[in-house]
Amino acid sequence: MEHQRSAGPKWIQVITVGPEEIDNRLVMELIPMNCRHCENPPCMAVCPIKGAIYKRRDGIVLLNSRFCIGCRLCIQVCPFGAMQFNDIRGVVEKCDLCVDRIDQGLEPFCAQSCFGKCIEFKEAAKLSQDKREISAKNILTGR
Ligand code: SF4
Ligand code: SF4
Repeated sequence: MEHQRSAGPKWIQVITVGPEEIDNRLVMELIPMNCRHCENPPCMAVCPIKGAIYKRRDGIVLLNSRFCIGCRLCIQVCPFGAMQFNDIRGVVEKCDLCVDRIDQGLEPFCAQSCFGKCIEFKEAAKLSQDKREISAKNILTGR
């Protein structure tokens, strides 16, 4: 919605794992597979065109599709399926973490609108700490 995308490449795919029975409960996971803005992006390492994929100082990995020649090497190496080929434009596309919003001090739209709080936008250290606290709480409450 934020990028007013029509049908075509999905900048965030949501994959389904399960349902499977675990401890007499049916469990199903829905996992958003958006770009993780890798520390050392393999997509950037394989791209033959300098500047087509680049990392900003704040760590956001961006794609300048004007430079892309559509070789699809980045698609092959991305472990999250984040790079998507646009058949009509002949170039790859991916989630840009709503960089325009971030530059205005806002959250990415997916994080803001996910009412289940499955998608969060935080510093990695804070995210790890929060996850540890949630795991500890779940263990203590037997969930
Ligand atoms: S497109 Fe894939 S490989 Fe590149 S930074 Fe994003 S998650 Fe990492
Ligand atoms: S498809 Fe485009 S962005 Fe991806 S590796 Fe090739 S030139 Fe680079």
